[in-house]
Amino acid sequence: MDPILEKYYALENKVAAYTPNLDKARLFDAFSYADNAHASQLRKDGTAYITHPLAVADLVADLELDVDSVIAALLHDTIEDTGATHEEVSARFGVEVADIVEGVTKLTRVQYTSREEKQNENLRKMLLAMSKDIRVVMVKLCDRLHNMRTMEYQSPKKQREKALETMEIYAPLAHRLGMQRIKWELEDLSLKYLDPVGYNDIKNQLDAKGSAHQEFMGATQLKIQQRLEKEGIHCTVYGRIKHIYSIYRKMYAQHKNIREIFDLYAFRVIVDSIADCYNVLGCVHDMFNLVPDRFKDYISTPKPNLYQSLHTTVIGKEGIPFEVQIRTWEMHQIAEYGIAAHWKYKAGMANQKLGSEETFEWVRRLLESQQDTDAEEFVRSMKVDLFSDEVFVFTPQGDVVNLPAGATPIDFAYSIHSAVGNHMTGARVNGRIVPFDSQLHNGDIVEIITSKSSHGPSRDWMAICKSNEARNKIRQWFKRERRDENIANGRAAFESELKRAGISMADITQEDVLPNILKKVKYNALDDLYAAIGYGGTTAQKAVVRIRDELLRLAKIQKDQAALREAQENGEGMHVASNPAVPVPSPKTYSKNGIIVEGLDNCLVKFAKCCTPVPGDPVVGFITRGYGVSVHRVDCPNAAVTKRKPEEAGRWISVSWGDTHQEAYQTALQVTAKDRSNLFLDIAAALSACQVKVDSLSAKNTPDGFAVITAQIQVRSAEEVNSVIRRINGVSGVMTVNRSRG
Ligand code: MN
Repeated sequence: MDPILEKYYALENKVAAYTPNLDKARLFDAFSYADNAHASQLRKDGTAYITHPLAVADLVADLELDVDSVIAALLHDTIEDTGATHEEVSARFGVEVADIVEGVTKLTRVQYTSREEKQNENLRKMLLAMSKDIRVVMVKLCDRLHNMRTMEYQSPKKQREKALETMEIYAPLAHRLGMQRIKWELEDLSLKYLDPVGYNDIKNQLDAKGSAHQEFMGATQLKIQQRLEKEGIHCTVYGRIKHIYSIYRKMYAQHKNIREIFDLYAFRVIVDSIADCYNVLGCVHDMFNLVPDRFKDYISTPKPNLYQSLHTTVIGKEGIPFEVQIRTWEMHQIAEYGIAAHWKYKAGMANQKLGSEETFEWVRRLLESQQDTDAEEFVRSMKVDLFSDEVFVFTPQGDVVNLPAGATPIDFAYSIHSAVGNHMTGARVNGRIVPFDSQLHNGDIVEIITSKSSHGPSRDWMAICKSNEARNKIRQWFKRERRDENIANGRAAFESELKRAGISMADITQEDVLPNILKKVKYNALDDLYAAIGYGGTTAQKAVVRIRDELLRLAKIQKDQAALREAQENGEGMHVASNPAVPVPSPKTYSKNGIIVEGLDNCLVKFAKCCTPVPGDPVVGFITRGYGVSVHRVDCPNAAVTKRKPEEAGRWISVSWGDTHQEAYQTALQVTAKDRSNLFLDIAAALSACQVKVDSLSAKNTPDGFAVITAQIQVRSAEEVNSVIRRINGVSGVMTVNRSRG
């Protein structure tokens, strides 16, 4: 048979083995469509191009992904390389397949030019955000794996470029999705091109000792196997030498030669139940000498990518230390195939405790929301909505800039530098001139056109831009550049507000009054106050309320002094007549803490400690016994509709935010990050750059190299919290930033 057809039928058999009722005609149609589309193309090694998509589809089938993913893998280069379109693929194979193919194409088109370490995390987030459907990332990883396997025919320059990109972006992405098997191979293949000498050195040393290694591993494996059989534990045992890159990293980081590497060898024991895992651990510790401080229990505390196993390092009679990893079959699948394995084991996973902090928030959400649906439905809804409130775009230099969803070129310009924003006269997105209010999309390359003769930003921009950063910088500009205009505008607003309050200008400009008034409004001169009103730093209303209070206070002092003098003159000693009620104009009615409680005036309001709402958050109230109304965020677990007790239904009430707010509200953020030196400092610096007041900042490390940092901060609004979250997300190593809930 034709060798290519033979490869196709091997693929078909592989897919059929895990897919009941496979539509073979449809799969074959995809193969022949791709075969035709690529008919005139050859790969660099001289083989027909179709061998590549076939190999990628085969890798996808190894992960046991659904048929749509396999078909998409067969078609993954048709839109990029041939005349095929989304419409055509969609009409023939369905919109799901077409979307995956288009997603992979988009990722392929992303150009990685920046090589800064701190950019890599943003790039990975951007890839996830662009993918929307997690299958896109998995097909792309398989595509990259096959390209790396067949890299030898590329030019040395291209080899290095692709290897670097794979090491920095794709291998960590595979790790994040828990796909260790693909991650290891990607790392080893990258190393082969990045440091051929180092790679070959390790490989040669391992090969030279090949037979000795085999002998040691065979004997140890047998020893473990026999002991466990005697104990009546049903198990599979196998040994392996650690992958080359992990040895390389240890040699490099610890300046050791290969003989000094502690755990070159690793054995896996795979059993049927968690109880057996601990039984095996007992046996292993009984058979060999324990190396201290090397035991790790990732069963009770899974890694953030859901990896679970027991790890221990022991040393036998030969004096060679080795690691033993003990896990169940289910844990094994998840360790090797990561997110791809969750489809097969989702029923089992649903029973596990997945609520731990270390669990990926989005995996947890997915699993929680998918408990009652069938497997196919689960696959379909496996969308990456992790970054739905953010957008990632490129500078022309290839740096990734992280902006709020819906951001415009104005936001982009001000995120680069205020001078760029202030002198902006136009913007290009992907090479085309666009209006200032056009929305940016993931992966866009944005270029700002500036001119020295620009007249500065327009006030309209404040309504167009999405980020506080841009808005503040525009306000700053008006504050500085348009002082005269601001003073005139501010003065007009101030005078009319003053008139409305029944106060005359002469009342406040008296010599003995003015200094007190300026102190009260915290400005050095009236012009400064006018300017502040003019650029929007404060409002005329606020200033006049303060001034009126101050005038009343001064009037009261004068009156008291007059009364005292009168009393003394009348020889009545210190007896002072009580102050007659001064008709105080009632201040604007403030809702308590900025909260309006429907149907209840003046009730006691407090904010729930579990979720610390701030203005802008959707909120709900609960009438407590004796402490008034407790306000929760709508998404607080304690306020979840499903958790509300029926007998308390009447105590949940609608509340909303009024127009006037407190100066600041306390709330808490929880940051999960890969631990590294200066992480804590960088997060503190990010917080200080946002100019929020930090009440407390604390960190704890998890045993597996992650850090959980809790920050208590004071903010004015939910919008401000979101901008803080975005800022912290940009810190290298940060994986998730959440508002604390419950
Ligand atoms: Mn490809």
